[in-house]
Amino acid sequence: MRNEYLVFGQPAIEEPEIAEVVASLRAAWPGTGPKVAEFERRMAAYKGSPYAVAVSSCTAGLHLACVALGIGPGDEVIVPAMTFAATINCVVHAGATPVLVEVEPDTFNMDPQEVRRAVSGRTKAIIPVHFAGRPCDMESLTAVARKNGLKIIEDCAHAIETEYYGWKAGTIGDCGVLSFYATKNLVTGEGGMVLTGNAEIASRVKMLALHGMSHDAWRRFTDDGYKHYEVVEIGFKYNMMDLQAALGIHQIERVEAYWQRRLEIWTRYDAAFADLPVSRPAPFGKGVRHGLHLYTLLIDEAHSPVSRDDFIVALHGRNIGVGVHYRAIPVHPVYQERFGWRPEDFPVSKEIGERTVSLPLSARLTEEDVEDVIDAVRGVLGRPAAGG
Ligand SMILES: *Cc1c(COP(=O)(O)O)cnc(C)c1O
Repeated sequence: MRNEYLVFGQPAIEEPEIAEVVASLRAAWPGTGPKVAEFERRMAAYKGSPYAVAVSSCTAGLHLACVALGIGPGDEVIVPAMTFAATINCVVHAGATPVLVEVEPDTFNMDPQEVRRAVSGRTKAIIPVHFAGRPCDMESLTAVARKNGLKIIEDCAHAIETEYYGWKAGTIGDCGVLSFYATKNLVTGEGGMVLTGNAEIASRVKMLALHGMSHDAWRRFTDDGYKHYEVVEIGFKYNMMDLQAALGIHQIERVEAYWQRRLEIWTRYDAAFADLPVSRPAPFGKGVRHGLHLYTLLIDEAHSPVSRDDFIVALHGRNIGVGVHYRAIPVHPVYQERFGWRPEDFPVSKEIGERTVSLPLSARLTEEDVEDVIDAVRGVLGRPAAGG
């Protein structure tokens, strides 16, 4: 058994970004400044997005996207039942009502059929989540949106590298929001970015992210001379710091190399677990470039020697940290109390939430780490690795 605990989701962080962070600390200005602007430029170029606004988190970005798109009290927003809480909470923070829909059992993505059925006269937007990095059926979702005059905000927390028939995730809807949280594919510690093709939305997001202050506020830290600022809207404090962007501008240079590394690990896992009594991620399918954020197994209690929760404990005992992404939204008490959602009304999401386990997939993993994960999984599920 390995000696050191393998922490789930630990990011690959290398010397250039470490040096850049130190330089930011030594510089006169660690707050929002030129490095944030540079990171926005580089991400916009990578994504082919006309505009990109860096913010303090994906959650903040989702909230701002809702507000900037005019979503508020009286509006309904369709969200998936299998996602992280932030996808739901941003709608509530905007004053609107989330309407939950079921996901597809193979992709874990929002089911367009269910979305169609959930549209009402008050529906204003859809928030598809490209789950684990697998693109949603954007053709169907875009068709529903067009037909009903709805906005689309893509939750791209897992989907920096994701493409759908050549379209880059986050540039298909009205807005796309990325996450650079510590466990995500590109890391700034905390951080997010709002992508949009609409200049007005971009400038509104930027303004709302910094107290609702007029634009020159972003430039008042430069040597252009002092300018008075004006507060033109009741905004938020959601700006990204140069200290964070210092990580991002170097991380983005390796985003494809890291993706390649995760593809190697993914392929190894797929081969190593093919004979085990578990479900592996569905094949990528047509038109899909998967972002490879999460490698998820579904433990089937009827066939596996252990339950999902015992599997997690057993891996922990072998010094392998894993994750659960996610328990279904309607199992959480606050949503049950506030919206009356019941897990049994979303059986697919409920079942995924009860069976799913995410294995370590970071580009930081060594060959040995990957071997250790494989050995541990096979050991717990009852079949040692061939030759091991
Ligand atoms: C991580 C995550 C978020 C929130 O990202 P933060 O940057 O931590 O705010 C939102 N949606 C999904 C699906 C996520 O996985």
